[in-house]
Amino acid sequence: MGGKEQEYVNNAFETNWIAPLGPNVDGFETAIQDYVGNSSHVAALSSGTAAIHLALELLGVSHGDEVICQSFTFSASANPIRYLGANPIFVDSEPLTWNMSPNLLEEAILNRIKSGKTPKAIIAVHLYGMPYKVDEIRQLADRYDIPIIEDSAEALGSSYKGVKCGTFGDIGILSFNGNKIITTSGGGALLTKDLEVRKKAVFLSTQARDNAPHYQHSSIGYNYRMSNVLAGIGRGQMEVLEERILARRNNFDFYLNALGNIDGLEFLQEPDGFFSNRWLSCILTPTFAVREKIRLALSELDIESRPLWKPMHLQPIFQNFPHFSDGTSEDLFERGLCLPSGSNLSEEDLHLIAHITKTSLT
Ligand SMILES: *Cc1c(COP(=O)(O)O)cnc(C)c1O
Repeated sequence: MGGKEQEYVNNAFETNWIAPLGPNVDGFETAIQDYVGNSSHVAALSSGTAAIHLALELLGVSHGDEVICQSFTFSASANPIRYLGANPIFVDSEPLTWNMSPNLLEEAILNRIKSGKTPKAIIAVHLYGMPYKVDEIRQLADRYDIPIIEDSAEALGSSYKGVKCGTFGDIGILSFNGNKIITTSGGGALLTKDLEVRKKAVFLSTQARDNAPHYQHSSIGYNYRMSNVLAGIGRGQMEVLEERILARRNNFDFYLNALGNIDGLEFLQEPDGFFSNRWLSCILTPTFAVREKIRLALSELDIESRPLWKPMHLQPIFQNFPHFSDGTSEDLFERGLCLPSGSNLSEEDLHLIAHITKTSLT
């Protein structure tokens, strides 16, 4: 925690706003809105997963529809497609940002149109905080008239051409889960430029209650609104977001300086116009065997590192859905490693991690 969180939470208790609405929810939404800008309106929700679920529903996705989804991601990007009985179509990454390949996206769209079904939405992800190729993906989405759900769960504070991530999709989503760059323990948000869409998101997230003195329902609703207690944590966290981004970027710079000139180790650089919050610092090793050697050497000292996300088209639960891949994410999964990336790592920690990584390479 950063400092002011407790104060906002105490305020919720003192004023007895222990509910999924109240001044902290409003204040947190305003703080996010002011931070990301770009005319976006925010609905605070119980999780990023809930935000993706509502986004799909708001875009009219239903049973039997097809939704294109970046394969190289965390499963929560894709699971809500199945909640609605729709089918994911997975698209591989390109090597510059590790995110959705525009070429493979177009191949996927054309293939699905030919088979008689235009996809209902595209879920593109800013993985590890690195923005996807925003302009290229938007051009394709517009050309084929398919809306974008922008999964910005890992990318609060990242930007593309000076504009904050979360504001590029027809609907954007954020996560405040415990492992994200700022947290409310659990939480998320839905972002949209359309006030009507925001209103409908709030309506659906609070059990879809029609305007009547009794409880009247003409749509299926969800219990997805953020609690006023947790939103208090979020308000405090927004005040330290810039600090957290700086700390994460410093981790990356440290690793790059310490390990960047070692033969065979590669780092994901920021292309021109791309700014990453460096949520996690990742390296690419020459082979799976080297990756494992580093991981196990760190593990010997109780230091946890992790392989990159396993692509969705290789997951048992999703492997039978169509995928358009050229091996990029499979290769990243085999050779890549997330190094310890917490905002509170000490200089000593970083030295030790770099040292072990270096020595396990020889
Ligand atoms: C964390 C995460 C989510 C889900 O957010 P929750 O708040 O944990 O439900 C979705 N997509 C990606 C890429 C994530 O990292």
